[in-house]
Amino acid sequence: MCGRPKLMKQVGDLCIDLFGDKLAHFVWVDSYEIIVNMELHDILEQSELTGFNFRNVKIDLWERDYPLEELPAPTLYQLVVKGNGGSIFPQNISHSLATCRDCGYIDWEPLDQIKVDKSQWDGTDIFNLTEFPGFTLVTEKFCTFLTSNHINEYRVIPSEEFSMKAKPF
Ligand SMILES: [Zn+2]
Repeated sequence: MCGRPKLMKQVGDLCIDLFGDKLAHFVWVDSYEIIVNMELHDILEQSELTGFNFRNVKIDLWERDYPLEELPAPTLYQLVVKGNGGSIFPQNISHSLATCRDCGYIDWEPLDQIKVDKSQWDGTDIFNLTEFPGFTLVTEKFCTFLTSNHINEYRVIPSEEFSMKAKPF
């Protein structure tokens, strides 16, 4: 068994351990889920941006740097990407590297750049591609919205310049 949920469906709210006192708008986790703080949740919810909804996040443990006083754990949300950019085919070239016999998941060769087929993309501002559900794409409108709200603890790379083969940092 590879451990991937067969329907790729999340069955419950995420439960995380949180470390450190300083919380950014985006809270880093060691998986591809996107966690945001309450402030970012609130402004995104009031925005015109499309392609996402939210789930609650449970905080199992909050290990602070300087726990001088008791504080309630912060409220965090999972930003669940709902937008659909369609398939990487036919506009990109990739070959399957392996297929899981249990769930049918196909490991695709990393792309050197990402080309989105506008006829397959649903027009949302934040979306995934079928073959690479862990890579999140956003529109320029999405980036401009964050910048205009002074949220800048992230890095965006134009999709045509983004190589999955490169190291992230
Ligand atoms: Zn599998």
